Amino acid sequence: MGLFFVFLSLALLPVVLFLAWRLVVWRLNRKCLFCAIVEGRAAAKIVLRSSDAVVFHDIKPLGEIHLLAVPTSHVDSIHKLRAGKTLEILEEAARQALASLGVKYDSKRVDMHFV
Ligand SMILES: [Zn+2]
Repeated sequence: MGLFFVFLSLALLPVVLFLAWRLVVWRLNRKCLFCAIVEGRAAAKIVLRSSDAVVFHDIKPLGEIHLLAVPTSHVDSIHKLRAGKTLEILEEAARQALASLGVKYDSKRVDMHFV
């Protein structure tokens, strides 16, 4: 009987580790302002929302139109941006958001910041 529980514990270990990892990620995301905006826990003037990105007005605009585009899932490393299609997704979201505001997209005026 004791051996059964040892095997059961070993079989469940990956599940427990996965759930613990998800809990850590969830706790980290709760502290991220951009995730809070994406999830609607923080206010923002949203221009565009898709399944992959959210574009909203900066609260301290540096120009007439100053938008921020963030992915809908938390990204904590620049390496993840390089590995996936997140950059292309954000650029397309910014392009669509600007178009919805009647602003012509100009790649020279699109910048990237990491916080
Ligand atoms: Zn985040």
